[in-house]
Amino acid sequence: KRFDLSGKVALVTGASSGLGVHFARTLAEAGASVAIAARRADRLASLQAELQQGGARALAVDLDVQSAESIAAAFDKVEAVLGPVDILVNNAGISIVKPALDMPEADWDSVVDTNLRGAWLMAQTAGKRWVAAKRPGSIVNIASILGLRTIGQVAPYNASKAGLIHLTRALAMEWARYQIRVNAICPGYIETEMNGDFWKTPGGQRLIDRIPQRRIGQPEHLDGALLLLASEAGAFMTGSIITVDGGHT
Ligand code: NDP
Repeated sequence: KRFDLSGKVALVTGASSGLGVHFARTLAEAGASVAIAARRADRLASLQAELQQGGARALAVDLDVQSAESIAAAFDKVEAVLGPVDILVNNAGISIVKPALDMPEADWDSVVDTNLRGAWLMAQTAGKRWVAAKRPGSIVNIASILGLRTIGQVAPYNASKAGLIHLTRALAMEWARYQIRVNAICPGYIETEMNGDFWKTPGGQRLIDRIPQRRIGQPEHLDGALLLLASEAGAFMTGSIITVDGGHT
């Protein structure tokens, strides 16, 4: 019961593929009304239909987290159709793989603008609305173990996820007085449609060799952390960074 999200409205960014799709399904199964947001409207439409067929309230929302106008419009739409957002899952994220010496300015900007500035604008928008309405709220930031340690060729990704982890702690501290909780999940390597083939390559195998459980995670391995942080079960948690990575060293 304490993990139950009935009557809650959750907004998931980056819900058009990968982990975001799974998070939307998990939150809907827990009883939440789910707003699924991203740029690819066609993918959102099919997920919306699937969630509705399963009996959930679901709403596809156009969202580009790089645009403050788009973010404000998305919150307005969710509020008008599903009601005010209670849970924000900042999952939208991108990675560009290039050596740091060759990383163009535009690539740095798009990674940091999406992963860090986008999550910040989403959180600030949610926070302002919660404080104005005197409503509590929960933000779950999807960071990465690559915000805690580094690998080569993803410097802006490493930096953006480390920034997101510290942003989580900063907002948790400032907003605890408003009953707003801000926590983060740091997934290790999780198999999604985008990276499925990589784990069969020698490079992928080398990464698996560094995971004590000797396996790639599945999206459902993140469900426990997600539901804990989103629900009343995590009521005394804020500023927590939960690593879910098979014990990665
Ligand atoms: P995907 O590439 O499958 O999904 C990324 C999502 O982000 C897409 O739905 C995309 O939608 C959305 N997105 C990208 N840019 C924007 C934007 N400007 N505005 C709105 N939405 C945007 O990746 P994953 O599912 O693997 O990753 C999801 C999150 O989990 C990311 O933050 C990632 O860093 C993190 N993560 C993933 C791990 C993994 O192993 N898979 C490990 C650790 C962390 P669209 O293009 O339609 O806008």
